[in-house]
Amino acid sequence: IETKLPKVGTTIFTVMSQLAAEHGAVNLGQGFPDFPVPGRLVESLERAMRAGHNQYAMMTGVPALRQAIAEKTERVYGWKPNADSEITVTSGATEAIFDAIHAVVHAGEEVIVLDPCYDCYEPAIDLAGAKAVHVALDPATFAPDWNAVRAAITPKTRMLMINSPHNPSGAMLSDADMREVAAILDGTDIILLSDEVYEHIVFDGARHESALRYPELRERAFVISSFGKTYHCTGWKVGYCIAPPALSAEFRKVHQYNVFCTFNPAQHAFAEMIRDEPEHYEQLGAFYEAKRDRFREQLLTTKLKPLPVPGGYFQLVDYSAVSDLDDVEFCRWLTVEKGVTAIPLSPFYETPPAGQRLVRLCFAKNEATLDAAIERLQKL
Ligand code: PMP
Ligand code: GLN
Repeated sequence: IETKLPKVGTTIFTVMSQLAAEHGAVNLGQGFPDFPVPGRLVESLERAMRAGHNQYAMMTGVPALRQAIAEKTERVYGWKPNADSEITVTSGATEAIFDAIHAVVHAGEEVIVLDPCYDCYEPAIDLAGAKAVHVALDPATFAPDWNAVRAAITPKTRMLMINSPHNPSGAMLSDADMREVAAILDGTDIILLSDEVYEHIVFDGARHESALRYPELRERAFVISSFGKTYHCTGWKVGYCIAPPALSAEFRKVHQYNVFCTFNPAQHAFAEMIRDEPEHYEQLGAFYEAKRDRFREQLLTTKLKPLPVPGGYFQLVDYSAVSDLDDVEFCRWLTVEKGVTAIPLSPFYETPPAGQRLVRLCFAKNEATLDAAIERLQKL
């Protein structure tokens, strides 16, 4: 058959996790925590199942969860979305990203993405018959070049996608960046998709500049988050999208025929958790900051050079003191020969910067896992 996605193979996360398993490597590749979800969340989930919340949920999401998200959003970002018309619960951020693109992007239109970008963006754009227009982030700092974004806009541009804290780099957009985005979009009909799945994992006293804080952005944005990141349960696949009523209505047309609804019991569990234990998301930054600091200190005892990590749970390292291999080959070698798995950066780019020698390590891991990785990395 003639493939609809000629550029797509198996994702780098799957490839590297399989290789890690085959070779018994410490897997710091695919981003997922290796520690348990909060006990209270598991108890709530069990209670929800026993209480009979096992059939289809409301298409838009369990009302108690949408209400809890609305209240949490007001508490954290100072603005309360309407739980009925502006919040939709999805099967992970991946579903939300797919739905948002398919809801508003027509065949032949263009979507601007900032490279390196998360791997599910472009295939969703391609399937919509649209074109991803890649604008490079600064190769050293991963800061956006807003003039380059301006220059990439054409009459066909339908959407701009941003991601902060950023996967894979951990870079964060500042207040000045968000104002630039607002200025760029002002007077256009371009829709913003803001991928904020790492919204609560921010460090060094910084503030996450959600698009929801900016009226001129949120009135034209899909803002997407994921409970997988916030509650250490990437396998539960529950996320959500906040968008103005007209955009949410279009979004729901796709959502209802894509999955119809999301796993019902988990929605009840998240509703309780968000409402009863705000400390969890409030302290998540400090929780991961301690892991980041410890891991970085350990990395300084290896030949890998850690880059700054303002947010998220990934540490980029420069391996040029160890090897001349390209990043994909290096990750293969590191797994097979040295027993540690990382993720190369080049699959996140349309055109990777020449000679870039960076790979991504996930530090959402127990100390024992990170210690085992460091012991091996010290032998490079
Ligand atoms: N966006 C980014 C930037 C991510 O890192 C991830 C998951 N790692 C997702 C979206 C997808 O989130 P989910 O697992 O909830 O589908
Ligand atoms: N988002 C995770 C990461 O960046 C991977 C998710 C997946 O495997 N699809 O590592």
